[in-house]
Amino acid sequence: MLQMIPMVDLRAQYIRYKDELNSAVTETMLNADYIQGKNVRIFEQELAEILNVKHVISCANGTDALQIAFMSLQLPQGSEVLMPSFAYAALAEVLHLLGLVPVFIDVNSEGYLMDVNSLESKITSKTKAIAPVHLFGECADMATILEVANKHQLFVVEDTAQAIGAIYCGAGISGFAGTLGHIGTTSFFPSKNLGCFGDGGAIFTNDDILAKKIRMIANHGQSEKYIHDIVGMNSRLDTIQASILLVKLKYLKEFTIARQKVADRYCDGLADLEGVIVPHKNQFSTHVYHQFTLTMKNEGMRNSLKDHLIQAGISTMVYYLIPLHKQKAYSTQEVLPLSENLSKCVLSLPICPELTIDNQQYIIQKIREFTLNYKNN
Ligand SMILES: *Cc1c(COP(=O)(O)O)cnc(C)c1O
Repeated sequence: MLQMIPMVDLRAQYIRYKDELNSAVTETMLNADYIQGKNVRIFEQELAEILNVKHVISCANGTDALQIAFMSLQLPQGSEVLMPSFAYAALAEVLHLLGLVPVFIDVNSEGYLMDVNSLESKITSKTKAIAPVHLFGECADMATILEVANKHQLFVVEDTAQAIGAIYCGAGISGFAGTLGHIGTTSFFPSKNLGCFGDGGAIFTNDDILAKKIRMIANHGQSEKYIHDIVGMNSRLDTIQASILLVKLKYLKEFTIARQKVADRYCDGLADLEGVIVPHKNQFSTHVYHQFTLTMKNEGMRNSLKDHLIQAGISTMVYYLIPLHKQKAYSTQEVLPLSENLSKCVLSLPICPELTIDNQQYIIQKIREFTLNYKNN
């Protein structure tokens, strides 16, 4: 059986930092401070310093981070939140659970990020927040989003699960993804750019009052032990995961640079192919390439390429197969043409800091071979 090239090589990364990671985990076990231990606070502080944000509050996963963020805003039931349809489901799910209404916005062709030009036409008297998703590792157009939000007095919650470490810089505004709106959220799911060995997440804010509320909500709404001031949840980052993240955090910059090199090599190797579009890069953001996503000329070509690569032992993924406004759970009547078309044409390739040059050259060669034959069909 052929060994598949995985989307992300978590095993290779573990082996590379094995000694450091093993001793971090062992130390936590020797200290037996599993819940809210010392390394949880140290990790929060170090991440806050790196991202230049006042507060980092860790929690159990990226979906909880979104839920806690929206709980802290205390929006009236039925409030509308503008969010992109071409995105992961977590945000829409959380809004529904909280009695809020996701209003789906299309994405643009420049990076498949929230189409800021259609924001204002979707604002009603019930609109209370805008929730951009920094998709695939690149920031949405935050200057415009913040301007619209200011004008209409809306909250901005950034889902930066895919873009930790990306830097936005446009129209006089700059900063790390997740630190420019009222609240940012992220995930440390193992395959994310900064991943732990299980579930983990965090919430960012520069607002002291929100930070206090968020920390309380993540820990049963307690202001102190056994004093419950508000309704909260049990959402904590394990000390073992924080210890692993503390090791990996030192290498985040290195990981990002390695991902960018992989992306550059893909672009060099694939940009000239007919019927294949490589990722667009916006001026206003760095790209940390959580995904490297090709757009094929149509659905048939995308599906054939996927099959061709599976035959060649190469994993690929379709992010996202169905846009959220077409999912059974969240379906609405909206027509969002780009989101609908993209779900038919995109294909994400293996990308991670550990992808070897040999494997990458092989992937590029197989894609080139496919497009040549596809044309001749
Ligand atoms: C991964 C991801 C999440 C959810 O994170 P979990 O830790 O798996 O709950 C939310 N939003 C986006 C955009 C993601 O990519």
